[in-house]
Amino acid sequence: MHKLYVGLGSNLGDKEKNLNQAIQYIKERIGAVIAQSAFISTVAWGYESDNLFLNAALICRTSLTPYEVLSQLQAIEQEMGRTHTITGYEDRVIDLDILFYDDLILNSEQLTIPHPLIHQRLFVLEPLVQIAPNAVHPLLKQNIKELVDTYK
Ligand code: ADP
Ligand code: MG
Repeated sequence: MHKLYVGLGSNLGDKEKNLNQAIQYIKERIGAVIAQSAFISTVAWGYESDNLFLNAALICRTSLTPYEVLSQLQAIEQEMGRTHTITGYEDRVIDLDILFYDDLILNSEQLTIPHPLIHQRLFVLEPLVQIAPNAVHPLLKQNIKELVDTYK
């Protein structure tokens, strides 16, 4: 079994319902959720939007490979009505990112683990520190608490 950390975000529609729905799908298709943060309201990052985000993080036990997890997360995003444009950051019903997978380091076209922007995004760090303050970032060799404290 592997330990998977997922970051969740929604800024369209009933955001709380969207996060709960995504968590339900994750339990059914990826594995048991062993820790879950509160839902935290944040402003959009990387682009202008009038719509606040609701963000969360969870830890899940899974027997799936990282690529299987990615394809399940993408299927959930699609089923929940996420649309993609090529213009970059945009409002979204649901965004599901792999933050960590055990202490795996992986860089491919489709998948980068740890997620490359964890330490630069307070909307990821804030929920994550609630459930995993002592989890060590395998590249930066600092734990989540330290990353929050040194966040600039
Ligand atoms: P973002 O999450 O940065 O807003 P998207 O959700 O649109 O962007 O994801 C774009 C692509 O990022 C996906 O097609 C996926 O292949 C890739 N990707 C790379 N690393 C990860 C990761 N750790 N978790 C989720 N997606 C990832
Ligand atoms: Mg994403």
